[in-house]
Amino acid sequence: MTDVTIIGGGPAGLFASFYSGLRGMSVRILDFQSKLGGKMHVYPEKVIWDIGAIAPKPCYEVIQDLVQQGLHFGPEVCLEEKVVDIKKVEEQHFILYTAKGNEYHSKSIIIAVGGGIIKPLTLDIEGAERFELSNLNYVVQSIQKYKNKHILISGAGNSALDWACDLSEYAKSVTICYRKEEISGHEHMRQLLDKLDISKKPSMAIKQLNSHPDKPMISEVVLENVETKEQEIIPVDEVIISHGFDRESELLHNAQTKVNLVNDFFIEGLGNSQTSVPGIFGAGDILKHDAKVHLIASCFNDAANAANLAKSYIDPDAQEGGRVSSHNDVFKEKNKEVIKKYIAQS
Ligand SMILES: Cc1cc2nc3c(=O)[nH]c(=O)nc-3n(C[C@H](O)[C@H](O)[C@H](O)COP(=O)(O)OP(=O)(O)OC[C@H]3O[C@@H](n4cnc5c(N)ncnc54)[C@H](O)[C@@H]3O)c2cc1C
Repeated sequence: MTDVTIIGGGPAGLFASFYSGLRGMSVRILDFQSKLGGKMHVYPEKVIWDIGAIAPKPCYEVIQDLVQQGLHFGPEVCLEEKVVDIKKVEEQHFILYTAKGNEYHSKSIIIAVGGGIIKPLTLDIEGAERFELSNLNYVVQSIQKYKNKHILISGAGNSALDWACDLSEYAKSVTICYRKEEISGHEHMRQLLDKLDISKKPSMAIKQLNSHPDKPMISEVVLENVETKEQEIIPVDEVIISHGFDRESELLHNAQTKVNLVNDFFIEGLGNSQTSVPGIFGAGDILKHDAKVHLIASCFNDAANAANLAKSYIDPDAQEGGRVSSHNDVFKEKNKEVIKKYIAQS
């Protein structure tokens, strides 16, 4: 039986995986998404500044580093697995049930599900999905894709405005359409939008996507005024839909073994990563305790605590905390390689 099963492969789950490995436990990560990294995949091109000791760098690079670290001790990784139920059979024996009908047995569990499973709200137009592999986008994965292109952005929330401003530096043109008369985002963002050469189409919604005759790509978008029904055709190279996200977070409510929640949503952390159920621990955005900040940095503290608590739960005689990595025998051999690399570089 696996020592620790981690639900969620975001920053909290990945660091919990690393730290559990460091504590000598076998680890399994289950995540609904098809890749590790959690909701950082919503903003891969954004530059992250607020992780201690990490110089500002794009989020996708932080994801790469986190994944590398999280996989260091060789956890079993099961992607596209949505956990739908948790059952405590007895002390040191839990069963996790997934939507595909799989069962995973584990001595302990770390719940690191963030805000739940998030999926972008898709464009409600028949056949729109056939453009998802070409030029219909729900997340800006790479700014490069938009260089010298004519871009239409649908939506007027902060993400839509943010992308409009960022991409306007590289694109040939940026047009933003939204159903409301006024833009709802932050004041400073609206002012910035006015300064930049961004065309605004208020009260307009996407009515139709016209494609190239010879390839499955959108060539123009028909916009329709939500009041007057007047239409306008805009030629495009790329379309970005920023209509928000759908969140699914039923697991903690539906599970046979329930942990106590705060505000009917967050896991109640008893002091730190301990939950109301012995053997189940929490980490990251889903966990609430008095010292909580909803930052990536905070995930790491929760995750180390959760792993240490899981270790003590499985083996009450084990040392309470892990040895710091600089003095940890686990890394003795590996350190030789790292030091060799530094000597070679210097
Ligand atoms: C636009 C944006 C910008 C941000 N910028 C910053 C920033 O600059 N600095 C910073 O510190 N923080 C930032 N954050 C916050 C940061 O991303 C979160 O604090 C962090 O991702 C939380 O990590 P987590 O591991 O707790 O959860 P998540 O990253 O949400 O990962 C949770 C994982 O659990 C999986 N999951 C959920 N439910 C299930 C289930 N039932 N079964 C299987 N898998 C499940 C999900 O698929 C997901 O992969 C930002 C957030 C957003 C949205």
